[in-house]
Amino acid sequence: MKPAAVIRRDRLILAVKPAVPGTPGRVLSDKMIDAPAAGSCCSCGATIAKAERVRARMEARTRRAETFLFCASCCDLMANFAIAAATESGSRRRA
Ligand SMILES: [Zn+2]
Repeated sequence: MKPAAVIRRDRLILAVKPAVPGTPGRVLSDKMIDAPAAGSCCSCGATIAKAERVRARMEARTRRAETFLFCASCCDLMANFAIAAATESGSRRRA
């Protein structure tokens, strides 16, 4: 069981459409996971440590399915973007 704060952050991150490298394909899965092994971020190239909380997005590309991992820092940016977007639309509604 994940703490509520982690679940809340995961939801914020997944609400943001990520910039994936190459031509976007059909999304097969898009979820937050604890990295099963070390790897690298598809967005900034940072090293992802085993067990780091990352976004894993699998897309069907021309010949095969590809998985794109986003590191914790990129996930933080997406979470902040989601919060800012929500705040902005909230103030627009009030205006
Ligand atoms: Zn990154």
